[in-house]
Amino acid sequence: PATVVNFGSSTKKARLDQRPTEVTKLGPGTLLQQRKSLPVYGVRNRLISEIQKHSTVIIIGETGSGKTTQIPQFMHEVRLDKNGIIGITQPRRVAAITLSQRVSQEMNTDCGAIVGYTVRFEDVTSECTKLKYLTDGMLLREAMLDTLLMSYSIIVLDEAHERTVHTDVLFGIVKQAQALRDEKLLKPLKIVVMSATMDVDHFSDYFGSVPILYLEGRQHPIQVFHALHRQDDYVFSCLVTIFQIHQDAPANQDILVFLTGQEEIEAMARSIRLIVKDLDGKCPCLKVYPLYSSLPSHQQLDVFRPTPQGMRKVILSTNIAETSVTISGIKYVIDSGMVKVRTHHPGTGLDVLKVQRISQAQAWQRTGRAGRESSGFCYRVYTFQEFDAMLKNSIPEIQRCNLTNVVLQLLALEIDPLTFNFLDKPPKELVNGALQQLKQLGAIDTVEGTKLTEMGHQMALFPLDPRFSKILLSAKDYGCLEEILSIVALLSSESVFVIPPSKREKAVAAHTKFFSSSGDHITLLNIYRSFSAVTQKKQWCHENFLNMRNLQYASEVRSQLAELCQRCKMQMSSCNQNVDQVRKCLVTGLFMNIAELQRERQYLTVESRQIVAIHPSSVLYSLHPHCVLFTEVIQTGSCYLRQVSQVDPEWLRDIVPEYVQQHRLLTLVS
Ligand code: ADP
Ligand code: MG
Repeated sequence: PATVVNFGSSTKKARLDQRPTEVTKLGPGTLLQQRKSLPVYGVRNRLISEIQKHSTVIIIGETGSGKTTQIPQFMHEVRLDKNGIIGITQPRRVAAITLSQRVSQEMNTDCGAIVGYTVRFEDVTSECTKLKYLTDGMLLREAMLDTLLMSYSIIVLDEAHERTVHTDVLFGIVKQAQALRDEKLLKPLKIVVMSATMDVDHFSDYFGSVPILYLEGRQHPIQVFHALHRQDDYVFSCLVTIFQIHQDAPANQDILVFLTGQEEIEAMARSIRLIVKDLDGKCPCLKVYPLYSSLPSHQQLDVFRPTPQGMRKVILSTNIAETSVTISGIKYVIDSGMVKVRTHHPGTGLDVLKVQRISQAQAWQRTGRAGRESSGFCYRVYTFQEFDAMLKNSIPEIQRCNLTNVVLQLLALEIDPLTFNFLDKPPKELVNGALQQLKQLGAIDTVEGTKLTEMGHQMALFPLDPRFSKILLSAKDYGCLEEILSIVALLSSESVFVIPPSKREKAVAAHTKFFSSSGDHITLLNIYRSFSAVTQKKQWCHENFLNMRNLQYASEVRSQLAELCQRCKMQMSSCNQNVDQVRKCLVTGLFMNIAELQRERQYLTVESRQIVAIHPSSVLYSLHPHCVLFTEVIQTGSCYLRQVSQVDPEWLRDIVPEYVQQHRLLTLVS
């Protein structure tokens, strides 16, 4: 690209810790050598003795110091797991998978043997598993089956600084399990909290002033540059910066770019590959690696392979590389300054996925990724003034997210969400909003009540958003369980559409034959039906520009959901060609997500009164029907509805009469 992003020439040297350190290159070496070079290794015995002495400890250490991979192994080596397994929670599924694979490799065993992982819809553990990496959401599900978490001797709440809703709630659950086990004279439960940031007093106070162990980091100086002028398009600025660096820096100095999400990352990956073709011979060979949560695990693992001599890696990552996973060889960080977060507006009841500015704390974490093995550089494609205006710390999820799921889980645990000992209390409106929604969905009888209905208990069994559990459970009344299972499974997976820019028209033409004028949900159903019917799946997917891996994943998810339905004693049923039944069934869970056409392409959401438009990727984009049901809202500049289906307003009156009355949705229905 011809444009140049000007970064300030006077640079600020950032030391993320104060100690002078020698440059240690992590060569290929053996795994053991690599392990021994990690900062935790030197303090192994101290750590073990502190962990043995106390029932709860907090450990702070920079990202990459070896907390997640090493400390569980240390505890295993001294048999702290003889009376129960060690569970290590991760906010992200990718992290749980890659870390357990890494640790299996270090311990020279197969993943799923001594070391394993459990994430939603995937359980790679066995009888002999001792170290179990699992998402925080999965541990919360396990707590629903056994509040005392008796299979565990130690629970490591890892990445606690990320403050995900699930980890936050687990603090309370695990603390309660520990107390109850002591009270009942059962085997004790040890709790280890691990964090990459220093502000842990909060955690320590919560557990009653437990010891805090600091791991000394080994961080090298990093030069930080800010853009001199405000950038209009951060994606483009990042792209330009990549090539500014690439043209000057020697090979084997890798670049890590922080972006916001899958689509953005894949689009930039394509641009880079195109530009590289024109650079032939002038620069080192450049290879692009995307990294985001939903990436298939074999591709995630590619990122961790050492860069071959004479090459350069460019890793395009979401905030997952901020603290969850560490990649060696990074010399340059390019920070877009942006992150995609889900925010819930209790006033409007709307859940919005929005790209927004990161906090200063996040900016420093990102910067730190450049100084892991030697001195590094961080290019921020935002000005210093913009940095200065950022929030100091990010707002914990529990204070901004839809809590319907968590409140349902707490109620299933017979815990009153209004009196639960939260690490940080969520705003009352959020809890009340969740109770309100659970009542609308029929999971509780009254918003004051804390007792789940039969429907509520069944909803809690599914690892899904309660609205989708409700839809699945309603499917028996509409005789379309087969169809709903396929749709919910596809909505739980990544997009199945493949649209290569060079073959855009061909791809869209191929997709058109699955299109249903009733909307995206039936379109997904059509795809799934055809996919299951064909035998040559690989070829069929290729010809139809569909992602086979994501379809296969959906099919696995589908079988697991079908199993849960069976446990709820639901009969399989199919509505065959009468797919109106499917859309009616969707209304039973998504009735709060209805929007009405106002004027040309402009919709108003009925409950939250927001101006929105149908996302261009929807089959309804150019049809703009009068009344639509949507799965989610995303905000990128304007608000867009994604996964949209046409619905008949009359259905609302039949299916959720109380809701229609309460919300005076009469304009719509009359
Ligand atoms: P922390 O939890 O303190 O952030 P980790 O235990 O996750 O640190 O990582 C320690 C080191 O192990 C990292 O610096 C990295 O070099 C290496 N490592 C971790 N995961 C992988 C992986 N999947 N592949 C290769 N190396 C890895
Ligand atoms: Mg870690």
